[in-house]
Amino acid sequence: MTHDNAATSEAATPVPAVTGLAPDGAVDAWQEQQVAAQLRERIAGQFGRSLHIRTLDTGSCAACEQEIRLLTAPHYDLHRLGFFFTPAPRHADLLLVTGPMIRAFDVAARKTFDAMPGPKIVVATGACALGGVYPADAFVHGSAGEILPVDVRVPGCPPSPLALLQGLLVAVDRLAEKAASLTFVADSLTGEVPG
Ligand code: SF4
Repeated sequence: MTHDNAATSEAATPVPAVTGLAPDGAVDAWQEQQVAAQLRERIAGQFGRSLHIRTLDTGSCAACEQEIRLLTAPHYDLHRLGFFFTPAPRHADLLLVTGPMIRAFDVAARKTFDAMPGPKIVVATGACALGGVYPADAFVHGSAGEILPVDVRVPGCPPSPLALLQGLLVAVDRLAEKAASLTFVADSLTGEVPG
């Protein structure tokens, strides 16, 4: 089953794939620093110094989660860049989805997405979420995009922390585009439209 919103979103806007990643096991410290600097600059300039991530495991083997967890370890220290993980979808700007979207999770996945305030963005993380591991059958949809409007895809099985950082960099740019395209309603007291 393909959700209407997902089909519309994917048809209207090509989903960018994260490319140019370092090969597995060959983490490039210089590249990490470059990506981290760009992320810090984007968050500080566009999102009031913080962006909140809700993770959503839709049936992964847990290796993707291990790599995501590494982002908060001292080496990567994602918090210093302005990214924070939240368990509350209503506080989240970005939905980081892992796993092949088993059918038992599709309602929960959709409710999680619907509970997030806009503008919001969905990042499909790992080969399972991208549809490269499990074909659709009676138990699994086969990819995150079957249920959610995926904006960014991060390949890998699992993706390295550097790949995840690069995915976040693509995501914050896409989120900024979404925010810029919003139509604001004039303030009812002053009549001014936020700039
Ligand atoms: S993409 Fe690979 S590591 Fe991630 S959940 Fe699927 S099998 Fe596990």
